[in-house]
Amino acid sequence: MRVFKFGGASVKDAKAVQNVANIVSLFKGEKLAIVVSAMGKTTNAMEKIVEAFWKRSKDEFVSQINERKDFHFSILEALFADKDAEIYAQVEKEFENLKGMYDTPVPDNYDFEYDQIVSLGEVISTKIVNAYLKQQGVSSRWADARTLIRTNHTHREAEVEWEKTEQLFEERFLPHYSEVDVQVTQGFIGHTAEGMTTTLGREGSDFTAAIMAFCCNAESVTIWKDVPGMLNADPKWFDNTIKLDSISFREAIELSYYGASVIHPKTVKPLQNKQIPLYVKSFIDPLAEGTIIQASTSKDHLIPSFIFKMNQVLFSITPKDFSFLVEKNLSDIFARLSKANAKINLMQNSALNFSILLDEEKIDLDEILSLFEDSYHVKFNSGLELVTIRHYDQATIDRVTVDKEVLLEQKTRETARLIVKQK
Ligand code: ASP
Ligand code: MG
Repeated sequence: MRVFKFGGASVKDAKAVQNVANIVSLFKGEKLAIVVSAMGKTTNAMEKIVEAFWKRSKDEFVSQINERKDFHFSILEALFADKDAEIYAQVEKEFENLKGMYDTPVPDNYDFEYDQIVSLGEVISTKIVNAYLKQQGVSSRWADARTLIRTNHTHREAEVEWEKTEQLFEERFLPHYSEVDVQVTQGFIGHTAEGMTTTLGREGSDFTAAIMAFCCNAESVTIWKDVPGMLNADPKWFDNTIKLDSISFREAIELSYYGASVIHPKTVKPLQNKQIPLYVKSFIDPLAEGTIIQASTSKDHLIPSFIFKMNQVLFSITPKDFSFLVEKNLSDIFARLSKANAKINLMQNSALNFSILLDEEKIDLDEILSLFEDSYHVKFNSGLELVTIRHYDQATIDRVTVDKEVLLEQKTRETARLIVKQK
């Protein structure tokens, strides 16, 4: 069995759904598990519906739902000529149930409500994709991830309970391959032991594909994307990107750790653990080679990769009493930072000075300054970029520092990291 994952962009309109069916038809006769995300920008739209729900703004809640319903119905109309097709009523019912949620008891847990509402984007998209595959003659069934992926109760960032999940796939998912070739299910969502819906964190559908592959011992996972594979840099920041033909699990984890956004960071581990290869391929050009991520590290060093993080702010923290930076005050600094929920992109220390780099958009600058003001002097420098180069050499460093001032540089054998500022 192979696992395919189609993200939001690959099902963003009727044409895209038809393209998914074309890709599936290339694998006729094979057993496929297909993980699908919400259509286009639906997850963002569902988040707005949650906001309206939480604010108790009924008009806005209903009008946002109607807007999402229109979006999905225009896709339905382009895909299903028969207006009596069952799928119309199914999608209608999901939206009506959602409207009905407004009148349930007054909500008191935002993250819980978020999961109950936002997950419907995936539920609806998978119903549509499955119905379309069936209409095109594919032997397909819809599978409900809310009965398969078991998680803890941490809504919006739920953690998978692996053993139970494996058992559920064994009992409730795999046996269906004696009846059908294809099962379509939702990315990003799961359920608690009590049967309440959870989500695995934004962009979590890649991870779902990996969970399924792990639990079903799949032969491979393919993530279908709008790029030809994994590139050595984000084309948004870089000209002349190169596709990586083959990289190791290890390298993929390193790249996603430093911020390469092609695959969700959690995705690789379960695949590495069972040595299941991961393909990243283009849904626009499905016969093209793409990237394979697998155990061998032999090709990792062939092409340098560049990862850019924009809008960085560098803090320089110095104890007011001139004490050295040793374990004791380092742990105090970390405790203060974790109070502010700050995620550190890079750090460095000297005798009296501790430097940390944070995403400007993810922090409250004033909060950080006030958290430190009693015992530390804090200076900061904003508007910076962090460039990470894997498998660097001097030429690659020169390339990214043209017209830039380098504020800080860290190198290990494989990785160079530079904090730079536009001159
Ligand atoms: N639909 C979810 C999101 O947009 C999950 C995913 O697409 O991976 O975050
Ligand atoms: Mg997505």
